[in-house]
Amino acid sequence: MIIVVRPGATKDQVQQILEKLDQCHLKAHVSEGSERLIIGVIGDKSRLAPGALELLPAVEKLVPIMESYKLASRAFRPEGTSFEIKGISVGADELTMMAGPCAVESEEQVDQVASVVSSCGARFLRGGAYKPRTTPYSFQGLEKEGLKILRRVADRYNLLVISEITSENDIDYASEYVDVIQIGARNAQNFRLLSAVGKSKIPVMLKRGIAETIDEWLGSVEYVMSEGNYKIIMCERGIRTFETSTRSTLDISAIPVLKAKTHLPVIVDPSHASGKAQYVRSLSLAAIAAGADGLIVEVHPNPMCALSDAAQQITPKDYQALSKEIASIARIINRKYPD
Ligand code: PEP
Ligand code: MN
Repeated sequence: MIIVVRPGATKDQVQQILEKLDQCHLKAHVSEGSERLIIGVIGDKSRLAPGALELLPAVEKLVPIMESYKLASRAFRPEGTSFEIKGISVGADELTMMAGPCAVESEEQVDQVASVVSSCGARFLRGGAYKPRTTPYSFQGLEKEGLKILRRVADRYNLLVISEITSENDIDYASEYVDVIQIGARNAQNFRLLSAVGKSKIPVMLKRGIAETIDEWLGSVEYVMSEGNYKIIMCERGIRTFETSTRSTLDISAIPVLKAKTHLPVIVDPSHASGKAQYVRSLSLAAIAAGADGLIVEVHPNPMCALSDAAQQITPKDYQALSKEIASIARIINRKYPD
């Protein structure tokens, strides 16, 4: 259920609502929109006497939320969510561009990518340090050293860092080096990990599970939000279908569907969706045209020699060309492209 607070309600009157909820052992999540204050109420409502909330002067109306996800639902923040991470906005008019290699292999490799992508709109440097690989015999990532490299290079080019962790044991260490923690497709329903990053309060990018429906994905988001962490970016990265021409199938319709169902920013990963560098451009343009708030693209200085995902990484030069085309689409759809 959400409580829509009457415009002009005083702080004391709002406090009265919060106290009532607390007395009934209900958890309150306050969302302060530009026009409205909304309180998401989570918990067993049987202790709440009928009419108890409606009688409070600050309550305008109560709206039941039928979906199993509550805080992630559009009703919780009808105007949409945008937030800043160290001054960089996500979910606002300006597109959020993230780029970098699949895996951190060396400082030189990351630097070669960062020097180019930072000059054409990217604000986040991506790079895997803890690599979730299908087989234990593939390159597993440089782990702690990888995070340090990412931070050093990002600072050199005024970029923020996004990187994946696969275990709750790594949250504290990673938080010292990264600005956004990525939860990958393979951990999309690792509920303990989701709750743990929810408690940490560090911004999170939650990728869609390989075979996760949109409602299940929103359930995953709810695990993070219900712990009080609202800085969440959803990342559509393709789903497994019967089609094998591409590594996954990019679910373009997930973009408008998410815009209707949730208030959270949506980023698209054309690299893991296609698995092939030659399709990254088309999927990127389509995603932005369909209303995505940004992209996360794998870029490697020499894709053929990459230690992971060699087939899907594009070169810095191709990223440069792509960014010009994204900027053109942005103009048409009234979004800003970062300069
Ligand atoms: C990644 O972004 O490095 C990654 C492994 O992607 P996904 O979890 O979407 O497969
Ligand atoms: Mn990859």
